[in-house]
Amino acid sequence: MSANKQYEEVICCHCEGAGCIYCDKKGKVFVLKPVKKCSYCDGDCCILCGYTGWEKPKGKYD
Ligand SMILES: [Zn+2]
Ligand SMILES: [Zn+2]
Repeated sequence: MSANKQYEEVICCHCEGAGCIYCDKKGKVFVLKPVKKCSYCDGDCCILCGYTGWEKPKGKYD
């Protein structure tokens, strides 16, 4: 187990909870705490936030 990584579940900004490819059709994503909006797009979704709109979303390979 990797040390002390804490994630919080938040609504995906791309689909606003409806479910899309970026949140695995769940409508929610796990984001590393402290949760904040992506500093590049401020929630508009860009490649740096994996199109979730959040800073440091949990990677599929984490
Ligand atoms: Zn989504
Ligand atoms: Zn972004």
